[in-house]
Amino acid sequence: MSGPGTRMPDPRPAKERSESPGDAAGPDPHEPLPRLLRDLRCGTDGRTGREAARRSVAYGRGSGAARRRVADRTFGPGARHHPALCPVVREHDAGRRRHSARPSRMGVRLMSTDTSARGRAARSWEVTRPGPIDTHPLELVEHERAEPGPEDVLVRVQACGVCRTDLHLAEGDLAPHRANTVPGHEVVGVVESVGTRATRFAPGDRVGIAWLRHTCGKCRHCRGGAENLCPESTYTGWDADGGFADVASAPEDYVYALPADRDAEYLAPLLCAGIIGYRALRRADLPPGGRLGIYGFGASAHLAAQVALARGASVHVMTRSAQARRLALELGAATAGDTYESPPEPLDSAIVFAPVGDIVPTALAALDASGTVAVAGIHLTDIPALNYQRHLFRERNLRSVTANTRDDGVEFLRLATEIDLRVTTTPYPMGRADRALADLAADRVRGAAVLIAD
Ligand SMILES: [Zn+2]
Ligand SMILES: [Zn+2]
Repeated sequence: MSGPGTRMPDPRPAKERSESPGDAAGPDPHEPLPRLLRDLRCGTDGRTGREAARRSVAYGRGSGAARRRVADRTFGPGARHHPALCPVVREHDAGRRRHSARPSRMGVRLMSTDTSARGRAARSWEVTRPGPIDTHPLELVEHERAEPGPEDVLVRVQACGVCRTDLHLAEGDLAPHRANTVPGHEVVGVVESVGTRATRFAPGDRVGIAWLRHTCGKCRHCRGGAENLCPESTYTGWDADGGFADVASAPEDYVYALPADRDAEYLAPLLCAGIIGYRALRRADLPPGGRLGIYGFGASAHLAAQVALARGASVHVMTRSAQARRLALELGAATAGDTYESPPEPLDSAIVFAPVGDIVPTALAALDASGTVAVAGIHLTDIPALNYQRHLFRERNLRSVTANTRDDGVEFLRLATEIDLRVTTTPYPMGRADRALADLAADRVRGAAVLIAD
């Protein structure tokens, strides 16, 4: 695989590329495209924008020579166009323009147009056709940069973690809550502007946008400290657009203040992988110095494991990935075995991070009396029939984990700086979110995949 390299981001201040608009200057291989799109918008070929859009579809579909002829007719003789980017304007609706290009060498839809550094346009990856990742469910689109809602903050994205939930949403394992939603709920960025009633943050503040986006604040769960169970809760990247984009917005009350002196790539995985892993650890009721089994060892697991280790636990990791087993041992796990191997000692607690229901009986069978298995994922394949004696008797517990409360988030983010978590990441440019998801689907990502603003 010739994928991006794995690295340990330096948590110290970085000369972040995205901090300096000047760095975005320089030759842009995609320069002709915005001009063509401006032509389409205003119909400078003498036809309406819709007609021009129809013609550009033909432009995208024909052979090279045919495309050039149509381009000449549509945009005027000798119109410049980038050979690798034949624009197809599929929709030409009011606030949002959808552009696409012929498949790149990777067989994915490759898109690039204006960047946020130039004007009010912003790019985002939308789930347009939920389905298997090799059917390219995501598409990169460009749209006008929205103003934040009255109680929202608008954030310029510096980095966005790629979570397995994003993959479930892209592949349709989780039914979409709305069409064409932008995934991404581990958003690290800088406040660009705030809504008219928003007072918590100021432009320039470093913040994070996470999965839990809003709750009613009135129901018994909200009032009882379990806002994660609020029936009216909404989620970033599911009910509203997330951070696979140049900019993202969120209600200010649900945004986390983040330290300005940490690298965005380091912070991003903490916002879901970290917080949910921490919630799962709490739900697994691990006693001090206890014995913890971890099934599946991706982004969330490798952070939860470090919290458990810092609290004196003995950690046993079960995962099919040899690479992940090596990472587990490097981080201090006592043992690392294959998914269905038995740990060398009975467990007080286990967390099932892999979205595989078959693991649940295995994890239950590995528990000591009164032990607890917490299933961390939002999606799990069917759990096979359980045998009461083998899996549950002796007061063993099976629990799910549903999102997190804001208190979980604040607590974990504080803990993360105290114990100086080691965060393993695999970076991808924002323009390659589709590749990052495909690598995640194929278990090719070490630690957490993180999209970095380009
Ligand atoms: Zn997540
Ligand atoms: Zn509620």
